[in-house]
Amino acid sequence: MKKMPKTEQEWGVCLSPEQFAILRKKGTERPFTGKYLHNKQKGVYVCAACGAELFSSDTKYDSGTGWPSFFSPIKGNVIMKEDNGMLMLRTEVLCKKCGGHLGHVFDDGPKPSGKRFCINSVSLKFKKK
Ligand code: FE
Repeated sequence: MKKMPKTEQEWGVCLSPEQFAILRKKGTERPFTGKYLHNKQKGVYVCAACGAELFSSDTKYDSGTGWPSFFSPIKGNVIMKEDNGMLMLRTEVLCKKCGGHLGHVFDDGPKPSGKRFCINSVSLKFKKK
């Protein structure tokens, strides 16, 4: 994907229905179903929509929640936004480059960051090192 799609219609063409539902419509994959949940290989997780490098395998850990979890993102490539949906205040995690929805961040992660980036496997593509 060279040129970044501008409209939701254009995104619909280049993403799978599952990717579109999560990345563009802020959906959530069912817990314990994501293909990267148990991936322990060394490498980098890039945005499934635009290829931006988002998370390193060095920051991945097993949170037991059913989604791939990271204690910190690759600096500068991820943005966070308040999310008031679902009747609870959460912090949404988005790809800075394409604005794609990745998941949410919570304050119950391991030290030292204390953060748990709870990310949909569907929003990611793994590149083995
Ligand atoms: Fe992206």
